[in-house]
Amino acid sequence: MSPLAAIALGANLPSPAGTPEQTLAAAIDDLAAAGTILARSSLYRTEPVGIANQPPFVNAAVTLTTDLDAEVLLDFLLAVERRYGRDRASGAPNGPRTLDLDLLLLEDRVVNSPRLTLPHPALASRRFVLGPLCEIAPNLRHPILGKSMAELLAALPDEGPNRAAAVQKLPPLPTQH
Ligand code: ADP
Ligand code: MG
Repeated sequence: MSPLAAIALGANLPSPAGTPEQTLAAAIDDLAAAGTILARSSLYRTEPVGIANQPPFVNAAVTLTTDLDAEVLLDFLLAVERRYGRDRASGAPNGPRTLDLDLLLLEDRVVNSPRLTLPHPALASRRFVLGPLCEIAPNLRHPILGKSMAELLAALPDEGPNRAAAVQKLPPLPTQH
């Protein structure tokens, strides 16, 4: 089988596609152009991390198989971000954004280049990433830490933005006709 990629999605500003919920639904459909989607998580409403004074985020995770190289896949994700109005030049780190796509894992690749770090450096420390990912792929292993996503989630402290209550599953979006 082709290598398995795990991707995190997040948004907390309206985009040309609509609300953050609608943006994530559209962006997940777009990810199919990079390979074969295996699973998509529910959408989650989450508390902002870092900068508190901004709208809540909507987050989700997707797994897909892909034959793209890691840096090519990153370029694909950055192009999808731009399609939904992401303006990287004016955005503060951890600040509001129309769409954020992070490559969490690509099989067991370990990359430390100026443009790409794999596994994603914040993967193990964020409930808003591990919560959605564990809904669809709890048994994926972190190639450096040697732990499963479920083990990493269970190890998070239940405090601050990592409180269990800060990451809430949303009801499914109505189907678009
Ligand atoms: P963040 O996602 O940390 O809030 P950005 O979305 O602004 O920050 O990303 C900044 C840069 O991070 C991107 O231009 C990209 O080159 C780099 N980057 C490094 N590793 C990754 C990764 N695993 N997934 C996504 N972007 C990454
Ligand atoms: Mg990002």
